[in-house]
Amino acid sequence: MKETNDTLSLTNYKEGILSQNRAILARAITLVESNAEKHLELAQELIKELIPYTGNSIRVGITGVPGAGKSTLIEALGLFLIENQKSPAILAIDPSSTLSKGSILGDKTRMELLSRTEKAFIRPSPSAGNLGGVARKTRESMLLCEAAGFDVILVETVGVGQSEVTVRSMVDIFLLILIAGAGDELQGIKKGVIELADAIFINKADGNNIFFAESAKSEYNNALNYIADATPGWKTKTETCSALKNIGIDNIWKTIIDFETYTKQNMIFYDRRKQQTIDWFEDMLKEEIINNFYKKKNTKTNIDNVINDILNNKITPVSAVKKLTFDN
Ligand code: GDP
Repeated sequence: MKETNDTLSLTNYKEGILSQNRAILARAITLVESNAEKHLELAQELIKELIPYTGNSIRVGITGVPGAGKSTLIEALGLFLIENQKSPAILAIDPSSTLSKGSILGDKTRMELLSRTEKAFIRPSPSAGNLGGVARKTRESMLLCEAAGFDVILVETVGVGQSEVTVRSMVDIFLLILIAGAGDELQGIKKGVIELADAIFINKADGNNIFFAESAKSEYNNALNYIADATPGWKTKTETCSALKNIGIDNIWKTIIDFETYTKQNMIFYDRRKQQTIDWFEDMLKEEIINNFYKKKNTKTNIDNVINDILNNKITPVSAVKKLTFDN
């Protein structure tokens, strides 16, 4: 469990973040990640104070199965961005981390060069909690990073489950990193994930692998003709790159910028952000209602009794739900 040092006041946090003090930013994220009730209140006050300073970044989601080269690519992209006077912050949503104690961004050897520069901010995935809780923490951490002046937020996730949908719901553009020579099944990538992607990059296009990467690229481009655009009017396309050899990294950034320009011109960018905030609120509302319901005394016994009654045909499931939610 991370220690939350709560000796800082709201003003200390706010001023620290606005003056781009990275140590205070890190502490503020720890505050946001804390599950303690007293931290929650301060964290929410802080976010409220900082909201006017947020939103000025491009939020980029990056997914792909373990081994596709995500961290190598994020490091290359991060260094490229710094060279181009950008300030990247890297966050992660890793649902597997609860089990494996952090498989992405967990160990320091990943993104070694990037973690050594003062100009990037790297934060591993919050390790405790369900996906909903982790998502809230990442989303709020993203806002803190924006208030601290980071203008490109890269949110990494492992492309094997529900977490891609969660990341998609908090970013402007969603990138899928694949490798050649492995079928979709092998890569554990579901069609649904491809449908979320605004751009696909076939990584490891270097050495003997260039040919395979290029043919995977045309295959995917072909397949994309039959898949609805993830963002209306924006044709998802596949490109190749080599994170290791630093080839095509500029093209990834160009794609992000082109996407931003396109979606801002036709308001999709702003509409999507607005909708994401509404969805976020609604998700949290549902979560809170459900948690409160289950937290109430006797809920478990009542449910057990009602299940018994349902199985004995004493009550229908629908009436049972009404009875439970009314009585409770
Ligand atoms: P992640 O699990 O998706 O974050 O993947 P990593 O970035 O840890 O990369 C997995 C392995 O693939 C490492 O051994 C990397 O050195 C290697 N790798 C990553 N990108 C490239 C690339 O562009 N070309 C080649 N040949 N290897 C790469």
